[in-house]
Amino acid sequence: MSSHLPAALLDSLTGLPGYNRETFERVHAAAEKITSLRLNPTKIKSPGKAQHVLQSLSANGVTQVPWSTEGYYLPARPSFTFDPFFHAGAYYVQEASSMFLEQAVRATVDLSAPLKVLDLCAAPGGKSTLLQSLISPESILVANEVIKPRAALLADNLTKWGAANAVVSNNDPRDFSRLPGYFDLVVVDAPCSGSGLFRRDPDLVTEWSPENVTLCSQRQQRIMADVLPAVKEDGIVIYSTCSFSAAEDEEILDWLADHFELENIPVPLQEAWGIVPTVTNKRNCTGYRFYPDRLSGEGFFIACFRKRGGDTMRKPKDAKRATLTPRQREVIAPWLNIPDGYQYFPHQEEVLLLPPLLAAEMPLLQQQLYIRKAGVKAGQPGQKELIPDHQLAASMLVSENLPAVSLNLPQALQYLRKEDPGVETDVRGWALVRYEGMNLGWAKFLPNRMNNYYPKELRILKEITGL
Ligand code: SAM
Repeated sequence: MSSHLPAALLDSLTGLPGYNRETFERVHAAAEKITSLRLNPTKIKSPGKAQHVLQSLSANGVTQVPWSTEGYYLPARPSFTFDPFFHAGAYYVQEASSMFLEQAVRATVDLSAPLKVLDLCAAPGGKSTLLQSLISPESILVANEVIKPRAALLADNLTKWGAANAVVSNNDPRDFSRLPGYFDLVVVDAPCSGSGLFRRDPDLVTEWSPENVTLCSQRQQRIMADVLPAVKEDGIVIYSTCSFSAAEDEEILDWLADHFELENIPVPLQEAWGIVPTVTNKRNCTGYRFYPDRLSGEGFFIACFRKRGGDTMRKPKDAKRATLTPRQREVIAPWLNIPDGYQYFPHQEEVLLLPPLLAAEMPLLQQQLYIRKAGVKAGQPGQKELIPDHQLAASMLVSENLPAVSLNLPQALQYLRKEDPGVETDVRGWALVRYEGMNLGWAKFLPNRMNNYYPKELRILKEITGL
């Protein structure tokens, strides 16, 4: 069977640890499609609920991704678009190999501490949602994406995830030099030549060339040099790609060890996982290779470092912040169920809800970064009532005592298409719209109709068939 992989790629991989040309070509030619997802532990709290969500996706059962606490393989790909649980943020559809980031993080950082974490190349949000599930609620995650429309997608995905301790920024890596020594953990899932995804997306093969590998490798070096000053002394840097090319993997590790004070850190593996450790020629750095012919996942590479020596952040003076009026507080309070220490953060006409560390850091982050989203937007408090924001409905900060209307599957899909499902209810005014106990968004119920406040940009556009 021919795999249509570039000969120059196959030749360049010869001799790399774990590479077997025959099985590598065979697995690409077979083009098996693997579907995996990661449950959202913030929203799916009980094993019973997890079971229910997974069962609704795959009546034939699921299997666990061996290196991931919340990751599962599905035997076939369902239509996620037509699953209200998907829109409610019950899970994130993520390629299985990249879920190994969990092991890298667990091996290198103390997750019980309040951490400042940066996911530098974050869109669409696979690693960010994983990081958000791993860190404590007291920690903060800055999820950054340089490309503006992709930053918007990242913000939508973090909203759906219900993350209250995350910030989405839209900055170039070099902007992070304005935050010297700031982050405890920086993850760089670098833009790469993408050969690791050739089995899943064969169209990518036509874009591959040795010249592009070189360009990617140079860009990866630039990105790493730009962001390293933002890592604090003894902080952790995790580098990953979805490329098989040594120029983007092992050679980047050697380049990093040559140019910066970085100590390489190994990640414990189980042999049965099929992940291949690779040790660089020059500086003895260990990284991990994922081959689709050795495990159930796509091509991936990851390595971890601790930064020795380095930069320290000067704390800026506390900026004076606007607060809510007593009337605004009165209007907003019944809508919320917020843990102690959360702060209201007025922003333009709206109010953001921020956990304590994020509230303390916001003035600095706002000064230094272009912020697209921070914490949870509660909405716009008027004199009489709050106009609630979708972010509040998608978060865990919304009061459980608000009026709510539960929809069945066809009604939920109509709601998600921003239509009026015509439900019969005695509820009047603002209410949460739910599907099987999970919030989908807001609606305002009037005597003979419903005003649907599901965000236009999130609505399902595909035609519904076969329901
Ligand atoms: N981490 C993401 C996830 O798990 O969902 C995938 C990230 S993807 C491999 C790399 C990201 O880097 C893309 O979103 C891309 O837009 C961004 N990117 C492209 N050029 C960049 C650059 N010069 N500096 C930083 N990021 C860049």
